Amino acid sequence: MKTTGKVTGIISNLVTIEVDGPVAQNEICYISLSGTKLIAEVIKVTGKEAFVQVYESTRGLKTGDIAEFEGHMLEVTLGPGILSSNYDGLQNNLETMDGVFLRRGDYTLPLDLEKKWEFEPIAKVGDEVMAADWLGEVKEGWLPHKIMVPFSLKSSYIVKSIAAAGEYNVTEKIATITDENGVDMDITMMQKWPAKVAITSYHDKPRPFKIMETGVRCIDTFNPIAEGGTGFIPGPFGCGKTVLQHAISKQAEADVIIIAACGERANEVVEIFTEFPELIDARTGRKLMERTTIICNTSNMPVAAREASVYTAMTIGEYYRAMGLKVLLLADSTSRWAQALREMSNRMEELPGADAFPMDLPAIISNFYARAGLVNLNNGNTGSVTFIGTVSPAGGNLKEPVTESTKKAARCFYALSQSRADRKRYPAVDPIDSYSKYLEYPEIVEDLKKRVSADWVEKVLKGKTIVLRGKEAYEQINILGDDGVPIEYHRKFWKSELIDFIILQQDAYDKVDSSTPMVRQEFMYSLVIDVCEKDFEFDNFEECATFYKGLINIMRQMNYSEFKGENFNKYLEQLNKEINNGR
Ligand code: ADP
Ligand code: MG
Repeated sequence: MKTTGKVTGIISNLVTIEVDGPVAQNEICYISLSGTKLIAEVIKVTGKEAFVQVYESTRGLKTGDIAEFEGHMLEVTLGPGILSSNYDGLQNNLETMDGVFLRRGDYTLPLDLEKKWEFEPIAKVGDEVMAADWLGEVKEGWLPHKIMVPFSLKSSYIVKSIAAAGEYNVTEKIATITDENGVDMDITMMQKWPAKVAITSYHDKPRPFKIMETGVRCIDTFNPIAEGGTGFIPGPFGCGKTVLQHAISKQAEADVIIIAACGERANEVVEIFTEFPELIDARTGRKLMERTTIICNTSNMPVAAREASVYTAMTIGEYYRAMGLKVLLLADSTSRWAQALREMSNRMEELPGADAFPMDLPAIISNFYARAGLVNLNNGNTGSVTFIGTVSPAGGNLKEPVTESTKKAARCFYALSQSRADRKRYPAVDPIDSYSKYLEYPEIVEDLKKRVSADWVEKVLKGKTIVLRGKEAYEQINILGDDGVPIEYHRKFWKSELIDFIILQQDAYDKVDSSTPMVRQEFMYSLVIDVCEKDFEFDNFEECATFYKGLINIMRQMNYSEFKGENFNKYLEQLNKEINNGR
């Protein structure tokens, strides 16, 4: 028997319901409203009163309206067909709506139930299996999509039968497994999992030990992110958070890309849907969309749905990780999600924490980031979810609660600076404030040594010092004037400019410059550092500026040319001539 209840109060999206039976935290209910049903989630229960947040507009809802509780949490439907689909935060398939927003109370199916998938069995009759073990495989686009024992099954099972290779849809039985008591259970290619609960059916979760190339130089060279690592991009409006995230998603070393767009502006959502389907994946030559899922909140949905969308996205990420794939999850922006939490907590008149955010905001954020990671699966394979979120602090204030809490949870910090953005130094990632804690991991240092070169990390630290000294010199020059400081200061400043212009700045819109593989990053960075290690002599500061500007111009041309192609080599020759002419 389902628990039911009657609406007793409505404050915007917060609805109180008097219930006639047991109700659990985070349970889902549907409130009937003139022929449709509005989905809502329980956020607090006291005695006979349940507080629910409605994921739809509550316009027209009245006291006395009836709610029915489902007995389970908000669930994500998992199975082949998720990739290349676009969903809203409640996993309604946006394609099936034909571009038109869903009407309130309409819910669409996340997966195509009719579509046939070419199934290949992996498990054999008699095999002992448990949750997340691979029973078979279908091709989703070109990616192997594993059909797994449902994550919700807790004991161990024996495979009693397994379907022969052939075409099946997601509702057809592909296996029967038997538990210790001899009870049979039929398995299909589709399963459900509560969005707010982490999928932990893996062997262990070691700390990240290898880097994930993104093709973005200020990340890979200066502050690399690990596969299965976490990073965040705080920055004021218009500083390039979205552009940077898209640049990462287009070229990162990932099998699956999941984008949770918790929309800052409506046109961004439109952009993502017009831009993404067109993109060609540089590594496979196929459409990037074939291995991408976009979860976005349509503007007609209340803020509460933004909260759901990040959890839905993470759950889908964990699902693909369990198949032994590398997942990159991007959320833009997590501030909107925190705002949704704040609105709800304020409506419930809870004791507020800093800036009126809920007291447990830091815990909510760190629990969420903790779901990312690299895992060793029970079958010896590894899978990973790398998570990068953006934060848009009001007024660019990096001391606000969402930024501060995220800083504690994420290992990489890519701070976008307003002044860099104003000077069109893109990506506006501040080279001094930003950091990657992975550079302190001995495993990561080893990986970089193997992947790049033995002295790579030393070189990176050298470059960072040059940038810092350059900034100090620049401040002195500003105070004392060009002539008021020794030439040494100008040289320091121009060395940091060389690193800035050639390594840190990168044109997200240029075909060549937008993506730099690690071999190319190593080549250019080593070249830059070699130049920086030479102390050329100059008679005056103008001569110094002219010399370095010349080098910057040549090396920028190199950045825009095919690596080691004809033009590239021509400029390299020119560069060597300049350096030899320098004193
Ligand atoms: P945010 O998401 O922080 O509000 P956007 O990512 O939308 O900001 O970026 C705002 C604008 O900045 C872009 O439309 C673009 O003109 C410029 N921009 C940002 N990053 C780059 C880049 N790497 N290369 C060139 N232009 C950029
Ligand atoms: Mg943006």
